Amino acid sequence: MATQIRCAELMPGCRCTFVLIGENVDELIAVATGHAVSDHGMPAIPPAMIAKLRGLTEDRDPSKCLPRQRSA
Ligand SMILES: [Zn+2]
Repeated sequence: MATQIRCAELMPGCRCTFVLIGENVDELIAVATGHAVSDHGMPAIPPAMIAKLRGLTEDRDPSKCLPRQRSA
């Protein structure tokens, strides 16, 4: 099951709508690196961002990617 992480979740304040999609954290890091380099002009993604990406990936249950339903 692929995991999806929005670029804006990784880069606070980023307004781009790019969504990283990968089967595992290594794929996500590769996609994030390519996106950061080509679209954000970064030489590479910093270690802190990779750590954040790992954290988001671990937290993410694909079944919870759907918009949350309001219980109230
Ligand atoms: Zn972006």
